[in-house]
Amino acid sequence: MNARTYDVAVIGAGPAGAVFAREYAQAEKEKRILLIDGQTAEHPKVCGGLLSPAAQKVLAKMDLTLPKSILSDPQIFDVRTVDLPKRLVRHYQRHYLNMNRYAFDQWLLSLVPPTVDVLKGHCCAVTREDNGFLLQIRTNGVMQTFRVSAVVGADGASSLVRGTFFSHMPLRYIAIQQHFTPDRTDTVPPYSCLFDPLTSEGCSWTISKDGNVIFGGAFEKKNCRAAFEQQRKRVEQILNISLGAPTKTEACLVCAPRRPSDLILGSDGVYLAGEAAGFISASSFEGISGAVLSGKLLARALSNGKNHRTALHLYCKYTRALRFRIIGKFFKRAVLFSAPLRYLIMKSGLFSVKKFDA
Ligand SMILES: Cc1cc2nc3c(=O)[nH]c(=O)nc-3n(C[C@H](O)[C@H](O)[C@H](O)COP(=O)(O)OP(=O)(O)OC[C@H]3O[C@@H](n4cnc5c(N)ncnc54)[C@H](O)[C@@H]3O)c2cc1C
Repeated sequence: MNARTYDVAVIGAGPAGAVFAREYAQAEKEKRILLIDGQTAEHPKVCGGLLSPAAQKVLAKMDLTLPKSILSDPQIFDVRTVDLPKRLVRHYQRHYLNMNRYAFDQWLLSLVPPTVDVLKGHCCAVTREDNGFLLQIRTNGVMQTFRVSAVVGADGASSLVRGTFFSHMPLRYIAIQQHFTPDRTDTVPPYSCLFDPLTSEGCSWTISKDGNVIFGGAFEKKNCRAAFEQQRKRVEQILNISLGAPTKTEACLVCAPRRPSDLILGSDGVYLAGEAAGFISASSFEGISGAVLSGKLLARALSNGKNHRTALHLYCKYTRALRFRIIGKFFKRAVLFSAPLRYLIMKSGLFSVKKFDA
């Protein structure tokens, strides 16, 4: 078989994959790196596109500043948090950056050095063979084969790499988002976080973006669409807003790690980064910070490790703080998603922003 060869293949050019490819190529100029980019403008990553303070800090540590063209309107610093069954509303100050997620991913990709081969396509199979791996990539309907020494699975919640080499997957929800252009955007909170245990185990959100409103949430797979529709009606009724007809509906898997064993870093030449490894907040589904950071740390580990065993050991060591942060979110989730505890916290008004009287 006439297959092209690389030292490392990165499956997925989201934040984890793009950052890994950039950092590793800068550190290891001689290495041949293949980055497989499965995202298209027609089917962009389904995301709220909010850059959290944690993600901003990681970018700051990498000396990166965000181009203005990536930002969306409006910028958000007030989260309206709503407990739907209790009809309880509180406002909290949060310093997110509201972005166009596709533009953000394209910007990160533009930072990847030209020495990395970026291939637009879909990885259909990865198999282990002597001294490496064989990759089957479909590009424009044509199947190509590549032989590589190491594989980085940065392929998100539906990770083919994790599914192929590791038997354990974390709990995953179906995230559904609809886009609306309501007659009056001023009635819809620019950013709200919604709890409605009647329809969803996870949280939901409304986000204003460039004249549109996104309503989305994470739902158990069974009857997810019916639960979403029911919740949307409840949100419109309880918040007294009218979203109108959706202009777009999108859905994807989202990981909801619950225990330390849900976090998998890799083994024997296979490495996982970003959401594929389980680096996503169990309480808010914030995942960009963990993706960027794990991509950066994996590049350092691979660069410093003499072989796969030491590289994995270093990756484990470098990600210790990140793993503790993610595990901390399991506890935060347990508190926030306990109806009585959430009620007590919200009712107390602790940390909330008290609005001036009208
Ligand atoms: C609805 C929703 C809203 C969210 N909102 C936010 C938010 O506001 N802020 C935040 O921080 N996080 C948010 N998240 C989480 C965040 O989007 C992810 O955790 C983050 O994008 C993970 O980055 P990643 O690089 O690991 O994976 P991804 O961003 O998922 O990137 C994986 C890439 O791999 C590609 N890919 C997958 N399989 C293959 C394959 N077989 N071959 C080739 N390419 C492949 C995909 O096309 C994709 O480009 C949200 C998630 C969802 C589902």
